[in-house]
Amino acid sequence: MTIPTMRIGEGWDIHALVPGRPLILAGVNIPHTAGLLGHSDADALLHAVTDALLGAAGLGDIGVHFPDTDPVYAGADSRRLLQQACTEVQTRGWRVSNVDCTVVAQTPHLASHIPKMRESLALCLGVDVHAVNVKAKTAERMGPVGEGRAIEARAVCLLVQAPAVHQG
Ligand code: MG
Repeated sequence: MTIPTMRIGEGWDIHALVPGRPLILAGVNIPHTAGLLGHSDADALLHAVTDALLGAAGLGDIGVHFPDTDPVYAGADSRRLLQQACTEVQTRGWRVSNVDCTVVAQTPHLASHIPKMRESLALCLGVDVHAVNVKAKTAERMGPVGEGRAIEARAVCLLVQAPAVHQG
């Protein structure tokens, strides 16, 4: 079988926005009156990026690698999960070309946090900040996201063949 030189993956995630939780997106603490609910730190953006990465490499999804029934991942820092997924992908002979993502949140306003979110993602992925793009949108007050009851994230990732020592 011929191995393609590049592969694309997509990821999506949503978490409920509830009072009494910290709001963490791309590993960045964002001051807000509510935060995302979940077994781990509930970082929807990192989860979407992790799924995009795993998807591009044909490695299943975040739930397969880091089950939310496993107490090990209770309150987990999702940056560690993305870094582990990145290592998995790299050992199979791929490197991240670029990642593009969108966070959909009615509140808070995320624009001022985007530079830090990009830096944090780039650090996790081991790539230059210019290889990572983060966009923020509202849901125009429609649906659970637009009503401020959830935050959603989407991501795509392009992997290219690394000058590989090992593949498979
Ligand atoms: Mg999630």
